[in-house]
Amino acid sequence: MNTWLAALTQLERAAKVAKVSKDVLARLRVPERIVDVQFPVRMDDGSARMFHGYRVQHSSLRGPYKGGIRFHPQVDMDEVRALALWMTIKCAVADIPFGGGKGGVTVDPKQLSGGELERLSRGFVRALGPNIGPRLDVPAPDVNTNPQMMAWMVDEWRRTRARGEIAASRTSRNDGKGEWRATFTGKPVGKGGSRGREQATGYGGIVVLQEALRLRGKRWGIGAAPSVIVQGFGNVGYWAAQVAYDAGMHVVGLSDSQGGMTQAEGFNPEMVLACKREHGSLAACAGADAQRVTNEQLLETPCDVLIPAALEGAIHAKNAKRIRAKVVLELANGPVTPEAEVILAQRGIPVIPDVLANAGGVATSYFEWVQNVRNEEWSEEDVLRKLARKLRMQTREVFARATGKRTLRVAAYALALKRVAGAQQ
Ligand code: NAD
Repeated sequence: MNTWLAALTQLERAAKVAKVSKDVLARLRVPERIVDVQFPVRMDDGSARMFHGYRVQHSSLRGPYKGGIRFHPQVDMDEVRALALWMTIKCAVADIPFGGGKGGVTVDPKQLSGGELERLSRGFVRALGPNIGPRLDVPAPDVNTNPQMMAWMVDEWRRTRARGEIAASRTSRNDGKGEWRATFTGKPVGKGGSRGREQATGYGGIVVLQEALRLRGKRWGIGAAPSVIVQGFGNVGYWAAQVAYDAGMHVVGLSDSQGGMTQAEGFNPEMVLACKREHGSLAACAGADAQRVTNEQLLETPCDVLIPAALEGAIHAKNAKRIRAKVVLELANGPVTPEAEVILAQRGIPVIPDVLANAGGVATSYFEWVQNVRNEEWSEEDVLRKLARKLRMQTREVFARATGKRTLRVAAYALALKRVAGAQQ
């Protein structure tokens, strides 16, 4: 099943239970707008190479489109459409006034130099042209994009588009200075980025996990210091592992695209990150007490909490019967396919769904947007406190709806669909 069909299946399953109106469902089955661009980038050897990029604007019912931009060789329309739909649901679960969107460029960024990446980032923004803006569509980082790229993108948007739009948005509270910065979130602190945004998704995931364990830990057979395995050691995976470690959990397995490692007494993620930076991959950081494993083996290693934090489709129909975790916390988008979710549910393994578990990223993006449009700067403590309070509250809302045979995903979608439907009236 491709990613778009997986997203639609989740929507239909939830809509049945949530008794959402046919009109709302019809609107969510299709994106409102698709921007499909081909644009040239000057390469270091002087040649011009064409790249293919997309921006899918799924729903603006609750506010401006919101969602990341991904640079990856597998990016295609179906993937971006699915990710955009998930953003609509996620923003509603997080209860922030944004709709859903997503973008991507089909590229292997590892093959490009720093200069080429900058020209790619700027070229994509020029190609998107008037389709993005602080009150229209607000992109952010995703896989293989980072705060530096957001800084290039926002600078390009300001250079090429901002003048007229700033004038239009000037208010007594805001002289327009901050407004253009709100076109992108996930920027570096100092260039309009929010403190706390870098760790927000991983941090938020562990806040959701702790609240979930408070509510259901006993029922799931998980004690006070759970063992945790994290697949993917990028922005989200690293911070989830680090925050889990700081909270006294045992991080017994880690991996990146090159492979993984396990260790019964647990890893210190900060030390692993320092090692990865020095040697280029996690596999090179397996000490004498650690065991090297493939990504497949890592997912099938026994633990309390399995955290897929890499790409979609990691847990699928074939490996779902071999998962030996007590609960799965989806920090990637769409890491458990709908077929796998059925198998996990039959085996009594709950899945805390992405639209709740990784909503800390977009919630903090919203905080960044608010700071930009109001010309404010909040402390990291303030941001993380607001974020934790919001996520705990939404976790309780979702769990309260997960009664009888309703999975947590169906409960989260039911909550989101109710909120989206409310915005339509
Ligand atoms: P990233 O590029 O920083 O990290 C991705 C990591 O996954 C890298 O360590 C990479 O080596 C690893 N990886 C790639 N393929 C793998 C594989 N087959 N097996 C194991 N590891 C693999 O990206 P990120 O920002 O951390 O995003 C990770 C996931 O989280 C994505 O699904 C993304 O959509 C989702 N997400 C990110 C954010 C955010 O704030 N960055 C917010 C919500 C959701």
